[in-house]
Amino acid sequence: MNIRDLTIEELEIVVAKLGEPRFRSTQLYEWLHGKMIYDISEAKNVNKSLIDKIKYEFDVSFPTIYKEYISKIDETRKYLILLNDGNIIESVLMKYKYGYTVCVSSEVGCDMGCKFCASTIGGLKRNLLPFEMLAQIYLISRHNDLKISNIVIMGSGEPLVNFDNVIKFLKLINSEKGQNISLRNVTISTCGIVPNIDKLSKLNLPITLALSLHAPNDEIRKKIMPIANKYDLKSTMEAMARYFISTNRRITFEYSLIKGINDGKNNAKELCKLFEDRFKNMHVDFNINLIPVNEVKESKLERPDNSNIIEFKDELEKHGLSVTIRRELGKDISGSCGQLRASVK
Ligand code: SAH
Repeated sequence: MNIRDLTIEELEIVVAKLGEPRFRSTQLYEWLHGKMIYDISEAKNVNKSLIDKIKYEFDVSFPTIYKEYISKIDETRKYLILLNDGNIIESVLMKYKYGYTVCVSSEVGCDMGCKFCASTIGGLKRNLLPFEMLAQIYLISRHNDLKISNIVIMGSGEPLVNFDNVIKFLKLINSEKGQNISLRNVTISTCGIVPNIDKLSKLNLPITLALSLHAPNDEIRKKIMPIANKYDLKSTMEAMARYFISTNRRITFEYSLIKGINDGKNNAKELCKLFEDRFKNMHVDFNINLIPVNEVKESKLERPDNSNIIEFKDELEKHGLSVTIRRELGKDISGSCGQLRASVK
């Protein structure tokens, strides 16, 4: 087990077992998660004998930045991060008015099979451990000497498949003696693993949940998202409503606009109907985030013309829905939604 996968309470138990006083666990935790040291030997005020015992009992290794790409269009930066087993994942740093956001990967690859997404092309290699998600934040934060305020778990992987590790990661990143990032500033995006949406509802954390909807009906959704064969829109939308009811957090629906597949005026109308039918009398607060599909060289799916995108948005707004169009950041470095991969390509 990697030492960074322990919460402060767990670290206290370990330190006590190793026969050391309790304050050592606080010191160590502050070095590892507050100052984000890469090498545990840098924990200067901690006695060497304790550090040696930990090195003997735990994995203390840490991922490294393998490559950095800096966008020339905006201030987005993409990082290839080398894991200890040789796998590579991608993370993206984005600058918004309110601060810096990191788009975190939750798995090496992905096996959800969405037709428009590059992350799934090589299948799933493995889940990421909590420290490997922390590393994406720590490396990017230290490398750029800035504080990360927001996290979107929208990199490669399906976070609700790697449920326990994702929740542990959030507990660690949220800890007061660590980076203390508020869960209100965290978004988890899922393709719709219905039982795990309910599992998340039960934890009642103030996380923003985003559903990758991408279609106004099951027929179209099944064509582009294999998960739709397992969970239909009715049960998926009901689970999203339950998430809103238990957390009272505004939910998000992501809708990637793909030319000729889901971008017609009739699709927009049907989408309005879907919300009307499914959320009738429920007062669910939600936002629709339109994402003009980003190019993935293996797929032939095309981005609609700008006029179509505006028309689609107008149609939804005419029905009183709240709609935003996602800014396309880091396009020139393949750092946009659906362009992240598990390899150096
Ligand atoms: N597995 C999670 C998170 C990863 S993707 C999920 O499915 O939500 C983050 C968002 O980018 C999702 O909404 C995803 O559907 C969308 N996306 C994937 N490929 C895309 C592409 N080529 N263009 C635009 N959005 C894409």
